[in-house]
Amino acid sequence: MNRRTALLNLTGLALIGLTETKNLLAMSVAPKRNLANGFHRFKMGDLEFHVVTDGHIFMKPIQPNFAPGINKNTVEQELNRNFASKDNVELSINVLVVKSEERVILIDSGCGANFGKDSGWLIKNLAEAGIQVNQVTDVVITHAHPDHIGGLTNENGKLLFPNSQVYLSRIEHDFWMSKAPDFSKSKIKDPSLIKFVTDVARKNIIALADKLHLFEDGDTILDCVTMQLAPGHTPGHCIAKIFSKGEELYHIADLVHSAVLVVEHPEWGFDGDNDFNLAVASRIKVMDQLAKKRSLVFSYHLPWPGLGHMRNKEKAFEWIQQPMMIPD
Ligand SMILES: [Zn+2]
Repeated sequence: MNRRTALLNLTGLALIGLTETKNLLAMSVAPKRNLANGFHRFKMGDLEFHVVTDGHIFMKPIQPNFAPGINKNTVEQELNRNFASKDNVELSINVLVVKSEERVILIDSGCGANFGKDSGWLIKNLAEAGIQVNQVTDVVITHAHPDHIGGLTNENGKLLFPNSQVYLSRIEHDFWMSKAPDFSKSKIKDPSLIKFVTDVARKNIIALADKLHLFEDGDTILDCVTMQLAPGHTPGHCIAKIFSKGEELYHIADLVHSAVLVVEHPEWGFDGDNDFNLAVASRIKVMDQLAKKRSLVFSYHLPWPGLGHMRNKEKAFEWIQQPMMIPD
């Protein structure tokens, strides 16, 4: 058996005729489906959605990033009970793309070049989904942290979505552009970290110039997105209700960063929240609304592709991940 025959036998191709081989090869270059290509596609009403992965961030150590001040054994028992790593919490970075007849809307822009090679995959994966950067008409920013606004520009400050208008809450804009953003209610005290997040927010806001549009709490923008203030993670942090033909989906941005730790124990909290206690209050209030309404929820940081439901569980909540929805 020569080398070529051995290879064909190995791949199983020698067992079928030449025509079938050609068909098989043709199948392998057919338009990509939405599984295992860095994006996930589904529909709701007149809208088509893609969830596109920007990569992931590993938060390590778990405490005090999560559950600061909570007994270590209690936290480890909860991680163990849920088969979760005791070493780190993996945050997915799920970017939602909303396509209507007229628009291609991104909700947040990923990390860009701010967090190294484990993230910043958005533009490559948008292309996998057949979406080019110059086709994006609008980007809605839920809040101006670097993993949400950082993908708007490259290292040199050049806009990466050149034809896009960008929408940000007025409160969020004013916070980051103020002379000294107030971190007094945050557990983050490291000046270099505060400088980093502030610099990235300002750099991107300034680069937008007249492409930036500011919205207020409760505003509906782009005909299908209503912005709702859920403050605490940042002062202007918003969730987004996306709606079409009587159906709706809630993008909850950074309301939660771990199903095991802060959906099931919202009061344990997240160190990265600008106002720790206000974030706990907003988290409980919004999760309660979502659970009562049985709403479809999209999460930026819960496991890929971030679609599911919040359900009441004793005095708190649990995250029920939705099976993948594959359209025709
Ligand atoms: Zn985030």
